[in-house]
Amino acid sequence: MAYREKKIDHTLIDCETINKFVKRLGEEITRDYRGKELYFICVLKGSFVFMADLVREIKLPCEVDFMSVSSYSGDKSTGVVKINKDLDRSIAGKHVLIVEDIVDTGLTLNHLKSLLTTRNPASIGIVTAFDKPMRRRVDIHVDYIGMEVPNEFIVGYGLDLDGYYRNLPEVVVLSDSDED
Ligand code: 5GP
Repeated sequence: MAYREKKIDHTLIDCETINKFVKRLGEEITRDYRGKELYFICVLKGSFVFMADLVREIKLPCEVDFMSVSSYSGDKSTGVVKINKDLDRSIAGKHVLIVEDIVDTGLTLNHLKSLLTTRNPASIGIVTAFDKPMRRRVDIHVDYIGMEVPNEFIVGYGLDLDGYYRNLPEVVVLSDSDED
């Protein structure tokens, strides 16, 4: 069986806290891009829940698109990414916001941002639900941050462990023990 249930040790971030920061980010982005159109890029899979909530707080014309990337095998340390699913449309001349679930070392996002910059968007920014600044290995500017989290492995609100737990509405820390 693929799924081995782990116990939830504790809830780190409840739904109310998530709702509040999503609304705040929506207001900030709407204010900062007033008079413009936005092109949101959801980095699959972890960002799909956050993306769905965030775009409903944006009071501007916007498009959404989805991208799937993975590290080249054996290249995790450089963050060089392979595109598994590319964008559907050109981003040339558009105001792009990359939507991430969590920024950890920042390596993947750093490479993804460089790659998308070569496609000549009018601007390119990054919005993340969660940030682990202690773990950063590259100096990447994150424009909008939902909240900082401690250096713990978290799941829920789109974040997974081996593909599971993405459906939890809040963010939790799992217990170390696999036993019931
Ligand atoms: P990095 O910033 O190191 O290049 O990679 C960020 C990615 O690592 C995230 O998009 C996410 O998939 C994964 N990640 C980092 N920290 C966590 C965590 O605490 N929980 C989960 N589920 N994934 C994480």
